[in-house]
Amino acid sequence: MWQIVGQSKVVSYFKKCLETGLLAHAYLFIGPHHVGKMQLAINVAQALNCQEDKPPCSECNSCQKIAQGKHVDVQVLSVDSNLEKNKSTNKAEIGIEKIRQIQRAANLPPFEGKYKLFIIDGADLLSLEAANCLLKTLEEPYNKVLFLLLAKTTKTVPPTVISRCQQLTLMPLAVDEAEKALIDLHGVQKQKARLLSTLSKGCIGWAISTLKDKKLLEHYYEDREVILDMIHADYEERFIYATRLADQYKRNREITQEVLKGWVEIWRDILLIKTGINKAITNIDIQKRLEQLSRDMNLCDIRYFINDILVTMINLRKNVNARLAIEAMMMNIPERAQVKGGS
Ligand SMILES: [Zn+2]
Repeated sequence: MWQIVGQSKVVSYFKKCLETGLLAHAYLFIGPHHVGKMQLAINVAQALNCQEDKPPCSECNSCQKIAQGKHVDVQVLSVDSNLEKNKSTNKAEIGIEKIRQIQRAANLPPFEGKYKLFIIDGADLLSLEAANCLLKTLEEPYNKVLFLLLAKTTKTVPPTVISRCQQLTLMPLAVDEAEKALIDLHGVQKQKARLLSTLSKGCIGWAISTLKDKKLLEHYYEDREVILDMIHADYEERFIYATRLADQYKRNREITQEVLKGWVEIWRDILLIKTGINKAITNIDIQKRLEQLSRDMNLCDIRYFINDILVTMINLRKNVNARLAIEAMMMNIPERAQVKGGS
C-alpha cells in the first residue's frame, strides 16, 4: 500500500503511470520539509520494484529492502550525509563528485530489481557544476532508470533541471487530516495528535519523527523557550544570543534560517492573538502565555518586529554582517508595557 498520508492527487497520478507503463525518466517533487517527499520517493521505488500483484505491497523482499535502505538498485543521495561547503560562499551544497558517482551507476542495468532509482534529496542544494553534470544525465535517459529529485522550492533549482523533470507538488495536510492520520495510523492519543499536527503545520513527517525520537520535541520546546526568554532579557543577554546565532550562521546558514523561522512563528502567534484570531495559532500548548504577552504589547510593535525578523532573514541571504544584522533585530524586540506584578 501507498504509505504516504494524504497527497491523493500525486498517488493517483503514479497509480495511473504504473497501470499504463507511461513513466517519465525524471520527477521533481516540490514541497516543504517533512511534507512527505522522501516517503513518496520510497513508495514509488517500491511500486516499481515490488514482487507482488498490487504494488507497492510493503511486505515483499524488495519492498522491505527499499524501506530499510538496503536495495542495491535504489540509491538515496541525502542532504544530511552528503553536504559539502562551497569554499567561496560557505553555503552547504551537493558537489559534482556525488553526481558523477550517480552517473557511473546509472550506466549499469538494474542488479536485483526491475528499475534502478536515484533519489536526490536536495535538488535545490546542487552546486552549479553538479547541476550541469546532472543535466547531461537527465538529457540522455537510460532504460529502466528513474531519477527522483526532491526540493523544498523550485526557486533555487536550475530552470534547465526543472524543464527536464515531471514536476509534482506536495502540499501540507490540513491539521484535522494530520491529526486523524496520527490517531488512526500511529495510535497517538487525541490531545497529543492535535498538538503534533498543529506544531507540524500539516507536515506530518515531523510529527511522526517526534514519535520515534523524543529529543526532537524537546529541542523544539528548548528553542522556543530561548525565543520567549529573549523578551525579558536585557541587552547583554540578547547580544550574547546574537553572537551565538551569528557563529552558527558561519557554520550552517540553513539552520540559522530555521531558527529565525521559529522566531517568526512565535511572533505570528502573538500577532494572531492580538488580532483575535486565536484559533489559527501554531503553539497551542502555550496559548495562555502567548495571550498574556499579546495583552502586554502594542499591535504596531508586534507587526514591526515580525517585519524586522523577515528583513533580517532576507539580509542574511544577501551576505550582510550576520552578527550586526541579528544584533539590530534583537534591539527591536517589543517592550512589554503596563506589566503589573512582574512577568
Ligand atoms: Zn512489494
